[in-house]
Amino acid sequence: MTSSPIAMVIHGGAGPLKGGDYSREVVHMRGLIEAGRDRLAAGASALDVVVETIVALEASGLYVAGRGASPNTAGDFELDASLMDGPTRRAGAVAVLTGFKSPITAARAVMEKTPHVMLAGAGAAAFAASEGLEPIGDPAAWFTPAWKTVPPHKGLSTGTVGCIALDSSGALAAGTSTGGVFGKKPGRVGDTPIPGAGVWADTRVAVSCTGVGEMFIRAAVASQIAHRLRFTDESLATAAEASLAEVALLGGEGGLIALTAAGEIVMPYNSAGMKRAALYPDGRIVSDVF
Ligand code: ASP
Repeated sequence: MTSSPIAMVIHGGAGPLKGGDYSREVVHMRGLIEAGRDRLAAGASALDVVVETIVALEASGLYVAGRGASPNTAGDFELDASLMDGPTRRAGAVAVLTGFKSPITAARAVMEKTPHVMLAGAGAAAFAASEGLEPIGDPAAWFTPAWKTVPPHKGLSTGTVGCIALDSSGALAAGTSTGGVFGKKPGRVGDTPIPGAGVWADTRVAVSCTGVGEMFIRAAVASQIAHRLRFTDESLATAAEASLAEVALLGGEGGLIALTAAGEIVMPYNSAGMKRAALYPDGRIVSDVF
């Protein structure tokens, strides 16, 4: 039986500040890649590995997602997440979710247990409760935001987590989870929970984005890469760079991770840095920020 090469990529957001010490994140991401590699090598599905990895990223408090999310201007923690399965193009997402520890788990439940793609706000929270997902008792005790208010630099600054994987059956999956941008208004939704903007997976490519979500939505970055690969002869690198260039033209910054069914990986960014780690099909692992 022939099996596909395995590969995976994660990101921990495009918000690192130049000169910062991100050694903990670099070690943490490498550990998650090694764990994911072992799961994929043992035959786990790309979908399971993507969800397991994002659950760990969310729970770590090291990134602006899950436990590490920052509050909006009203002081509330509103989280977004999405998941997409390449072979079936099923997708699930939650937006403006409050009160639950793992938004990516809620996104998976939306995908698998409802006829919908996205649930938002109070409806998303009611659904998460009905699924028995783990609630946050006391937000003040649970969340560990890097900045309790807007950080001391201008513009919308960011941080998000994502994971994309290719399993031994050749299936791709992608997921993204975020606390959103710093200084966001209550009810604001970025690219993260929107398939085609902050996440995408089909039979050719899986993509997860991070950056100023407004511009990633306006450039339809994740699906743009997929469509470029489908309808042109562009390489993955060209398709990804061209899509990110549109974000820059619109005045935004950020980055993305993308992985093809052949195991090709790109991790471009136009921000100061992007927390990222990858397992290449030949077994090589990289984990880096700048
Ligand atoms: N893209 C996310 C958002 O706009 C933020 C981020 O990637 O850091 O909500």
